[in-house]
Amino acid sequence: MEAVDKYYGAFHALKSINLTVRQGEKVVLCGPSGSGKSTLIRCINYLENFAGGRVVVDGIELKSGASIDAIRREVGMVFQQFNLFPHMTVLRNCMLAPMKVRGMKATQAEEVARAYLERVRISDQMHKYPAQLSGGQQQRVAIARALCMDPKVMLFDEPTSALDPEMVKEVLDTMVSLAGERRTMICVTHEMGFARAVADRVIFMANGEIIEEAPPEEFFTAPRNERTRAFLGQIL
Ligand code: ATP
Ligand code: MG
Repeated sequence: MEAVDKYYGAFHALKSINLTVRQGEKVVLCGPSGSGKSTLIRCINYLENFAGGRVVVDGIELKSGASIDAIRREVGMVFQQFNLFPHMTVLRNCMLAPMKVRGMKATQAEEVARAYLERVRISDQMHKYPAQLSGGQQQRVAIARALCMDPKVMLFDEPTSALDPEMVKEVLDTMVSLAGERRTMICVTHEMGFARAVADRVIFMANGEIIEEAPPEEFFTAPRNERTRAFLGQIL
């Protein structure tokens, strides 16, 4: 993204953000509450519109309705609140988008869904409804559902922060294992162990700006900016 500006009314939520993520790169985005992390990643798939600048995903510039649809096909998103469809089984949740958006036949969509549910080690739950699962299980289903579209980019917005502590690990383990694949990942999280384990780059935001970015080793041991140091002092 290039020089992206976002306003909520008069409030300047993103201030001329420049960010280039390489294909296959794993990026962790952190920063204080209200710094614009969610807004930034929601601009990538146009869940938020923005006032100025450009967003380009895999060569497609976000512009018209057609480009929005094209980009959303390539970008999977996992939210803090799992956002599964409550009236559908786990399996149906995973089959829906590939059938609707990619035009897959039900038999093929089911095959794909089963494979990804297996991948996040939850295929034994596939005939249940979301409300019958634990938070950690629901989040793994949400990850599998996003993967069923075989997106080039996966966006995660604090995927573990709504979970009870004992369920955080199962979701992080799933994400660490995904990071071993070629897919690009952009993850808002304060799980610094995860950042150290998988991130190529950690980005720190404050007040709608990118303040600092560095590989995790450098980011954690030698933060250059005073605000980064203060933030790390609070969370580590
Ligand atoms: P958190 O860590 O709490 O999730 P964040 O870094 O993700 O914070 P954002 O959700 O991107 O922050 O919000 C950035 C700023 O924009 C905040 O000050 C917030 O109050 C404001 N904001 C976000 N969404 C809206 C909205 N729909 N309308 C008005 N202001 C908004
Ligand atoms: Mg947020």
